[in-house]
Order: sequence, then C-alpha cells, then structure tokens
Amino acid sequence: MSKSITIKNEGLSKCPECKGEDKLIYQQEWDRLFEYYDKSTQAHDLVVNRIYNDDKQPKYICADCSLKILVTA
Ligand SMILES: [Zn+2]
Repeated sequence: MSKSITIKNEGLSKCPECKGEDKLIYQQEWDRLFEYYDKSTQAHDLVVNRIYNDDKQPKYICADCSLKILVTA
C-alpha cells in the first residue's frame, strides 16, 4: 500500500521518503489546471477546491516508492 504525506508548498526536487532525485511526477490534474485556467479567475479556485479538498489529488507521486505528496497552499 502506498503512503501519502502532506507538505508545505515548496520546490521539491527529492522524494522525502526514498530521497530519490527527479522521481516526483507532477500529476496530470494539477498540470491541466495551470494549463487551462487563469489563476485570477473563479474557475481556477473552483477546480483547486475540487481536486484538493474533494478528490485529495496528490500534486506529486514518486516514481520509485509511490509516495503520494499532497501540498498545502
Ligand atoms: Zn520516493
């Protein structure tokens, strides 16, 4: 079973669990969010709310140890 942790938003380059570098995969939902929605619009906030609060979609997943990383604002 994969673990998940919550961290403060900061530029991550290493996995906090296995210390693997460049192993963190930015999750599609978050990627799409920033691609399609303007940060200054309400739609952006609504989508953040959904994938963050409702879906609890991790922002990164480690390719090596499968650690799920949720990021707080
Ligand atoms: Zn890892």
